[in-house]
This record gives sequence, C-alpha cells and structure tokens, in this order.
Amino acid sequence: AKEMGRDHYAFFTERMGSDIRARLAMQQQLRGAIGRDEFEVHYQPQMCLRTGALLGAEALLRWDNPVLGKVPPGLFIALAEEYGLITAIGEWVLESVCAQIRAWHDAGLGSVKVAVNLSGKQFAQDRTVPFVEAALRKYGIAPACLGIEITESTVMGDPDKAVAALTRLKDIGVGISLDDFGTGYSSLGYLKRFPIDVLKIDKSFVDDVTTSSSDAAIARSVISLAHNLDMRVIAEGVETRAQVDFLTEHGCDEMQGYYFSRPLAADAFTALLRERRTL
Ligand code: C2E
Ligand code: CA
Ligand code: CA
Ligand code: CA
Repeated sequence: AKEMGRDHYAFFTERMGSDIRARLAMQQQLRGAIGRDEFEVHYQPQMCLRTGALLGAEALLRWDNPVLGKVPPGLFIALAEEYGLITAIGEWVLESVCAQIRAWHDAGLGSVKVAVNLSGKQFAQDRTVPFVEAALRKYGIAPACLGIEITESTVMGDPDKAVAALTRLKDIGVGISLDDFGTGYSSLGYLKRFPIDVLKIDKSFVDDVTTSSSDAAIARSVISLAHNLDMRVIAEGVETRAQVDFLTEHGCDEMQGYYFSRPLAADAFTALLRERRTL
C-alpha cells in the first residue's frame, strides 16, 4: 500500500481490502470507465545515467472517476484482473501509447521509447501478441519504440505460454523489461528462461542504497548480474542526488524516479521532449 500514493487515496487504501460495498462500487464504475473516457496514460521519464539524456518513458495508467475520484492503479488493476476487465483496459493502454508515440513522431519529436506494463491475465490470452503487432502496424511504429514490462508474478501463471509470447515480441523487436526485480522468489530461474533485455532494480533496494550496506551490495550485484547477462539495468524510485551518484558510480544504465520527474500527463511530457531537459 506504500506505493499507492498519498493522502487523498487514504479512503481506498484503508477500506478497499475488506469493504465489499466499496469493491462493488469500484467494479461497477470500472466497467464503464473506458466508454466514459476516464483513463489517461501518464509518462514517467527514463534517463540515461551516463549522459543524462532522456531515453524514453514508462506508461502508467491513471483513472479519474466522477464518483470515486482518483483511484490508484495499485487498487484498480488488481480489481480489473479479478473481474475480467484487464484485457480491455490493457488494450486501451497499448493503443493509447502507440497513438501517442505516433503523435510525438509526427510533431518532430523523434522516436520516443515507451514501456507498457502488462498484466499476467493478458499473457494468458492468445490475442495479446497479435494485438500488439496490429497496433504497431496501425500506427506505423518501429517495434523498438515499444517496450513491455513484466513481473515474475505476471508470468508465473503459465510460464510456458509467457515464454512463447515474450519470445515472439522480442523477435519482432519489442524490448522486454523485468520489473520489481529482487522482490519475487525465483528471480534467477526466470532470468535464464525469459528473453529479457532490461532488469529494473526495485525501489525497495534503491531507497536505502546510500545508507544500508546490504542494499548497496544488492544494487551492485544486480547491476553486475545484468551486465554479465548482457542486459541493461534501470533503477526505479530514485528520489535523491545521492542515489543518482551511487547508481552512476556503480555503472547502472538508467534511472527513473521523482528525483528527475513524477509520471507526467502527455502534454507535460511533450513539453519535456521539446525542452530536451537532461538529468
Ligand atoms: P510499477 O510498474 O512498479 O510502477 C512504478 C510505480 O512507482 C508507479 O506507481 C510510479 O508512479 C511510482 N514511482 C515512480 N518513481 C517513484 C519515486 O521516485 N518515488 C515513489 N514513491 N514512487 C515512484 P503507480 O503509477 O501508482 O503504479 C503502481 C503500479 O500499478 C505499477 O507499479 C504497475 O504495477 C501498476 N500499473 C500502472 N499502470 C499500469 C498499466 O497500464 N497496466 C498494468 N497491468 N499495470 C499498471
Ligand atoms: Ca513497471
Ligand atoms: Ca516497478
Ligand atoms: Ca511495483
């Protein structure tokens, strides 16, 4: 619940788990949310630690509902998975992101790389990979502009199916990132089995990287592990200059976090692209 956001979400974080009526209300609102155009994709910059350049973004979904207010994805994504709504929502995200990549390209802002979070429920369906391919074609986007973020739990349900889907995506040029690395149970096995390009060091290790010798050791080990496996490393949840310095010094490739920017609405991210601001 710590990751879910602050103050105005307190109502949900405290009551959602047990309150069946609140869950029902949310489920009801969630069903019509795409039709009422209540979702918006925000973009959090991913920065190169070596050059300071803006490399791309992670797409993070936002839901603003007239009845419930702003509901954090940490709550509604799980509910959407439970009620069979995640495929429609996930496809809406993929489509919106592809349209946005196209719009940035057409505005002369270059080929922006965007990574989209995929739910395990989406992988369980044969339609997801064809959907991605169709969206790339529809918007005329180079597959290298699109990335997919998965977690161990995303692929745990049906690992064989997930391997097949990810291999297909990687073959066409879509990048694959393993999110929240180090927080699951069988990370090393997954690294061998899945066609992963990027490891994301979880925020929980980044938080105390400058004060805890064990977190520092874990971060350094993840960085060399990734590099030894020919993968890149992104640190997530970077909030301080000291963390940036530590990560840069130890060869981490990219960073993402409030230190540089929170997730931004498309317009604000566009402004950032125009400014060419660096880390
Ligand atoms: P995640 O994929 O691990 O995303 C990172 C979360 O950390 C985001 O929370 C982001 O806003 C937050 N964050 C980034 N930098 C910082 C920082 O410096 N400090 C702090 N305190 N937080 C930071 P958010 O946007 O609330 O998303 C939560 C989770 O919801 C995501 O975790 C992801 O698992 C899920 N999610 C979000 N959008 C989507 C989506 O389109 N599809 C799916 N399936 N899941 C999504
Ligand atoms: Ca992610
Ligand atoms: Ca993460
Ligand atoms: Ca997370």
